[in-house]
Parts: sequence; C-alpha cells; structure tokens
Amino acid sequence: MIHFVGAGSGAEDLITLRGARHLEEADVVIYAGSLVNPALLKRCRPGCEIYDSASMTLEEVLAVMDGAEAAGKTTVRLHTGDPSIYGAIREQMDALDRKGYAYDVTPGVSSFCGAAAALRAEYTLPNVSQTVIITRAEGRTPVPEREQLRSLAAHGSTMVLFLSSSLLEKAQADLLAGGYTADTPAAIVYKATWPDEQVFRCTVGTLARTAKERHITKTALITVGGFLGSEYDRSLLYDPGFSHGCREAGK
Ligand code: SAH
Repeated sequence: MIHFVGAGSGAEDLITLRGARHLEEADVVIYAGSLVNPALLKRCRPGCEIYDSASMTLEEVLAVMDGAEAAGKTTVRLHTGDPSIYGAIREQMDALDRKGYAYDVTPGVSSFCGAAAALRAEYTLPNVSQTVIITRAEGRTPVPEREQLRSLAAHGSTMVLFLSSSLLEKAQADLLAGGYTADTPAAIVYKATWPDEQVFRCTVGTLARTAKERHITKTALITVGGFLGSEYDRSLLYDPGFSHGCREAGK
C-alpha cells in the first residue's frame, strides 16, 4: 500500500491527523526533501527506510515503491503542501495504476493557504475578488499559451504565483501589461508557516525590486490583488438584513 501524503506548508504541526498516522505507521518514506520540513520525520518509526526524493528521478522513486510492494511494506510518499498543486503526483499514480498497486491520497495544507495565514488575509473579499488564480511564471517549464500571465492578469482577480520568485522581472512586466496597475498591492511570502517565515508587502510595480533587495529567489509565493488593500464590502452571510437557509433577516 502506498499513501501519498500532503505534509503541509512547513510548520511540523500542520500535517493532518491522517497524514501523521500514515507517517507513524510507514515502513518506507520517500519525502520531497527540498521543501518538506525534516522535523516531520521525527514521527517515523525506528527502522523506517527514509529516502529524500530531491535527488531522485521518477524511475528511482518507483523502484523504491516496487521494492516495498514486493516485500509487503507500507510506503508514504510525502509531498510538500498539498500534493495536487505542482506535486507531480499524477505521473506516479498512473505508473502505480499500470503496476496494479493500491494507493490513496491524504490532502495537506497548501502553501497558498499558509501564505494567507501569514498575511492575515482573505483571498475572496466581497466586491474585490471572488476568484483566486493559482499559476506560475513561465521559466524552464512551459505554461500553455492560453494561460500566459499577461492574459490571466486581465481578470484583475486575486492571484497567487508559485515557483516564480526567481522570474519576477518578466512576471512583473506581464502583470502590468495584463492590467494590474503599478500600485496594486502585492506581497512576497517566504517560507510561509516555517519558523523563519518572512512577509514582504509591496506593490505590483515594486515586486521584482523587493525580491532582489531581500534576496528572495526560492520557497516564496507571490500574491497580488486588492485583497491586500483596505477596501471591501462586508459579507452578506453575516449581514442582519440578509436571509439565508440558516437565518432570517432581522434576527
Ligand atoms: N504542493 C506545494 C507546492 C509545490 S511547488 C503546495 O501545495 O504548497 C513548490 C513551490 O511552492 C515553491 O517554489 C514555492 O513557490 C511554493 N512553496 C512551497 N512551500 C512554501 C512555503 N512554505 N512558503 C512559500 N512558498 C512555498
């Protein structure tokens, strides 16, 4: 049995109860060492075989899983944040399907949620934005033409950029060309929820400069949009004049 587990965004107590239980019971753990907090490995049993996938290929990861399955062992594949976001789990699951191995997925707290907590922000403010675009700047990994930053920026919605902190000169130009004004609020969140978390508030016009001045080139999220500003409407859900399934207006 193979359990894909989201480790959460950094803090060692942000893993789910289910994820922690799988880690505690595993015979073999393959963790994404570049971003998973190694403190989580304290949960592993003595004698658990631990592999850091940072220097491994997909084939090598699968070979470890093959060995564990042949020996009837339980494997945890520990991914950073939530495995469904830039986690490269689909190719692993497809390979396991072909081999006929059983697996399941335990979600985790994605870093974009950790970043909102660090910012004490709400991404979906009434009359500001009701949409969060999760994307990345194009680097060595291509982004489909119809999803270029410039066209996504035209929505003016809340945007969260993964994997982009070393590409900010171009990203900033694309965000501006797409329609965000230079004074649109932005923030760089470095190592959200880790002990050394840092938050740098800036604007779209100063994103690249801020990252350069603060020497941020990795493990950061770029957040953009009016949600970081001070103007918004209050929510109808808790508005005394608004009725809904659980409450009548005037109560
Ligand atoms: N599956 C992960 C994302 C993996 S892609 C998740 O759900 O969070 C790796 C990228 O995620 C990094 O380049 C960085 O942009 C972002 N990232 C991961 N952990 C982070 C953290 N704690 N703080 C800020 N950004 C983080």
